[in-house]
Amino acid sequence: MKIADLRTTTVSVPLEAPLRHANGCHWGRFVRTLVEIETDDGLIGLGEMGGGGESAEAVFRAIREQLLGHDPSRLEELRFLLANPTASLYNNRTQVLAAIEFACLDILGQRWGVPVSEILGGRVRERVEFASYLFFRYANPRTGAGEVRTVEQLIEHARALRERYGFRAHKLKGGVFPPEYELACYRALGEEFGEDSFRFDPNAVWSVGEAIWFGREIAGMKNDYLEDPVYGLEGMRQVRERVPQLLATNTVVVNFEQLAANVLRRGVDVILLDTTFWGGMRPCVKAAGVCETFQLGIGVHSSGELGVQLATMLHVGAVLPNLRYAADAHYHHLADDVIEGGKMRYEDGAIKVPDGPGLGVKLDREKVAQYAEEYRRLGGYPYDKDPLRPGWVALIPNERWADPADARQPRIPY
Ligand SMILES: [Mg+2]
Repeated sequence: MKIADLRTTTVSVPLEAPLRHANGCHWGRFVRTLVEIETDDGLIGLGEMGGGGESAEAVFRAIREQLLGHDPSRLEELRFLLANPTASLYNNRTQVLAAIEFACLDILGQRWGVPVSEILGGRVRERVEFASYLFFRYANPRTGAGEVRTVEQLIEHARALRERYGFRAHKLKGGVFPPEYELACYRALGEEFGEDSFRFDPNAVWSVGEAIWFGREIAGMKNDYLEDPVYGLEGMRQVRERVPQLLATNTVVVNFEQLAANVLRRGVDVILLDTTFWGGMRPCVKAAGVCETFQLGIGVHSSGELGVQLATMLHVGAVLPNLRYAADAHYHHLADDVIEGGKMRYEDGAIKVPDGPGLGVKLDREKVAQYAEEYRRLGGYPYDKDPLRPGWVALIPNERWADPADARQPRIPY
């Protein structure tokens, strides 16, 4: 079996509302590049990659010739073909490798008649539990609804998600407003939904001192962990020595070199595995094995996803015995998806792992065409910019917080 073709389509799929974060905003939609690999015997494997748009498509065009004729089952060789660690100093293709690996595993599953989870080691669970992943949000540019800025709006939003999807773990994405304000928001969640568990993630924009203060202030809550309170393994280590929570990261342990450093000199307790950031599903499974050996916790991280990438997160989540935390997904913020059957459904806060061969998802061609047209209409968006604050740049540690009293809404193409 050989790779005979590689195609990409960039789509722009609407979110219910723009999601604010420490570095800027998802401007009311996700721009994702869908990858299709076709084999010489007519199988089509699916992959997905975030951001980029035209630049992502250009990267895939550039590697197409190298991939043609490659056997999709030779996944270790693929790693060196696309992301040799020293050659990657010149061309970092980790995320590209991930999208290609997804597609190759999708092909192998179809060829062998098994779900990808069975190739990755076999399921230990049929459903993967998710956290609510709460964001501060601007209002939907079309309807004016959906803003999350005040404590009351946050509680109302969390309650609605909890009732609709069944979430019992709640992650609040912070780093937008001053830490004192976000502490009040997080505490309010704890008071309202005290039987659930919580995690807070300011995207690494605090100082060590702020992080220690915050960690001590939330000591009485049922915290899964405190996620990336500061940037850098040494900063995390200093915080870890002085707060009562476990610390988690998806920013400073995202490859095996960093994982080794963290094993030898521990700064982080829980490694959040991202099928894109780590270069595929198989690296996540390998890393989970290292974490099991060294008694590090693991989670499934979300860097934004449509149904194809969500399927990779579900197959990985299904096979990791040491996964003891609800996974993260932006998925419930999406207004639609590009897979057949529409958005996957949550039940009691969990999503069933697809049963079909391969990833178990297929593209809805009409939806892909519709959202490819949306991408042509709207183009990309700057993830690291705030549409309400032109010229604003976040520092690390940051001091340029948004004002929680500012109720203005940005004008966003939507
Ligand atoms: Mg994070």
